[in-house]
Amino acid sequence: MRDNHICCAIFPGSFNPVHYGHIDIAQRALRMFDEVVVAVYVHPGKANLFSGEERVALIQEALRNEPRVRVASYNKLTVDYAREVGAHAIVRGLRVFSDFELEFRMALANRRLAPDIEIVTFIAAEEHLHISSSTIREIASLGGDVSSTTPPHVVAALTRRFEELRAQGSNSSYMVSIDG
Ligand code: ADP
Repeated sequence: MRDNHICCAIFPGSFNPVHYGHIDIAQRALRMFDEVVVAVYVHPGKANLFSGEERVALIQEALRNEPRVRVASYNKLTVDYAREVGAHAIVRGLRVFSDFELEFRMALANRRLAPDIEIVTFIAAEEHLHISSSTIREIASLGGDVSSTTPPHVVAALTRRFEELRAQGSNSSYMVSIDG
């Protein structure tokens, strides 16, 4: 807290689904900011494996012991959403060198749009470097064990979702769902 004013950051992403790498970044961000808003980007018209509401609920459960974390969804420019919630910073995580180019380009674009909002990047913890939502979706879709990468309630949600998709037997929506 600085001069009675809340220092807030948003942590934006798709979180489809949330995993231990994301949880670690949110918790580390809490060491620097009074409040962290985990902001789930909901792409209009894109079919995701989990809806925006489902992704928000999974993150809320994962971070339920963190009273300074708020979880919400948005579908506008990230800098506009940051301003809307009064955030001074956008938090991102960096896993591998290949993340860097995209993060760097996004940071430059966001800085041009909103020079008053800082981009703060955390280097992923070594034990989470290999974790990504897309790998989790792929492994879970084939019945593999993802319990070392994401909390039990997310594992259960993945199992349920892929059972539902298999029961529907719809190949095309199944593939779209795995992609996103
Ligand atoms: P995207 O924004 O590409 O949809 P995600 O929603 O998966 O990606 O991730 C949101 C943020 O979390 C991004 O900054 C991403 O780099 C970061 N992140 C993703 N996986 C990890 C991980 N294993 N460790 C640390 N940070 C991660």
